[in-house]
Amino acid sequence: MTRPNAFTKVAGPAAIVGAVGWTLWLWPAHFLWVYPASGALFLWFSWSGEREIKYIFLFLVTVAGFLLPNLSPEGDSLYLMAGAIAETLGLWLLFYALSHFETSRVAARERLYAQEAAALEKVKNLEDELARYRLHLDSTLARIRDKGALAAALHDMGSASAPDEVRDRLETLLREYFPGASVELRTGAPRDFADNWVAERKIPLLVRNSDADSRFNRSLFGPQERSFMALPLYLFGRLVGFVRASAAAPDRFKSEDLRGAELACTLAGVSMENIYLFDKVNELAIKDGLTGLYTHRAFQDRVQEEVLRSARTKVPFSIIMADIDHFKSYNDNFGHQAGDTVLKAVAEVFAGGVRDIDFVSRYGGEEFALVITGSGKEQASAVAEGLRRSLEARAFNFGGRPSRVTASFGVAEFPSEGAAASQLVRASDERLYKAKEGGRNRVVFE
Ligand code: GH3
Ligand code: MG
Ligand code: MG
Repeated sequence: MTRPNAFTKVAGPAAIVGAVGWTLWLWPAHFLWVYPASGALFLWFSWSGEREIKYIFLFLVTVAGFLLPNLSPEGDSLYLMAGAIAETLGLWLLFYALSHFETSRVAARERLYAQEAAALEKVKNLEDELARYRLHLDSTLARIRDKGALAAALHDMGSASAPDEVRDRLETLLREYFPGASVELRTGAPRDFADNWVAERKIPLLVRNSDADSRFNRSLFGPQERSFMALPLYLFGRLVGFVRASAAAPDRFKSEDLRGAELACTLAGVSMENIYLFDKVNELAIKDGLTGLYTHRAFQDRVQEEVLRSARTKVPFSIIMADIDHFKSYNDNFGHQAGDTVLKAVAEVFAGGVRDIDFVSRYGGEEFALVITGSGKEQASAVAEGLRRSLEARAFNFGGRPSRVTASFGVAEFPSEGAAASQLVRASDERLYKAKEGGRNRVVFE
């Protein structure tokens, strides 16, 4: 849309007025067609110009309309007068129509301008909104990435196989999650005000700015501890330690960070519990609860291993079966407690009387089975004899009465006396029976 320029505003109308004046001067007789034609021309060219100029022109035209017939060489005629009045009225009408058209055109233009401005404003608002959404999207994506990394690290911690490993991974995780902050893990009792606060309330502590925290005196914090977090570490419901993160700048940790760290600490505790429980279950399967010796099942596995090894290396091994003599009488006379004490004592004597590479198990009840690695039955019998003597020499005391405990032993050798584990066990068991038959408290290997 172009607005009228200075030429069409002033110079144009002036030129037309000049030309018309000059034409009328030269040919006054032709005024009846020069006058309206020039008037229409003027209005046509300058209708979009200044309204004032048009009013002036209209005034001039009207005056001219009344004057020109008098100036005409044909003299004052009614015919000319009427023609001039009609033409003047015609020009007025034309002016009215054009100015009406112009007004509505300007109004339409103004409306368009307003619409354009409103649309531009709307676009600007939308652009601002888009920019805000972009920012939000970026921060959301960053948060998702953050959470993803946290989830991976937590998963990694959950797959640790030793408590120390969990501890290290928790420390690493927190260091990576709070770069630049100092992170510390400590086990044991509370050591300062923050540990005490956490231990008393059993919740983690977040201090956004130690200079402005109404709960604590500023002097309690070090210069590097403007931002501060303290969290408890639990194991099987017991408070076993504390985690601490601090930074020199204030507002380094948000409540969201505290929640993340708390989650990591909880998971570390659960991971450690899992490890302990897993080890415990494994131990229960292969270790006897009362004596701490290996179980019957572990013995069977070990004998199978020894059979394979011995077959490969051609080095024999032996097993010793042992049974406590008159064990029932300890139970009957002094109670089950006394029986258990005897079992534990015998287990101690047996476990302490063999080499590390040998194997001692509680076969069942008050029977024990030992694997003497890389030894024929002579050597194994010597071991059994040593155990028998040690046990016999040990002083017991039941209900104030000094007493002795003895056991009987049967020894057999692989592969010469049993080519399979079951045969070997049977052979040694038969000899144990012989030892009982022979008067107990003895070793039988033949
Ligand atoms: P022997 O000299 O012939 O071996 O006589 P014994 O009394 O030792 O033999 P017996 O096999 O008749 O008795 C074994 C007893 O051991 C039976 C049972 O009450 C007891 N016993 C088995 N397991 C346990 C245990 O875990 N704790 C206690 N206190 N007693 C047990
Ligand atoms: Mg017995
Ligand atoms: Mg028995």
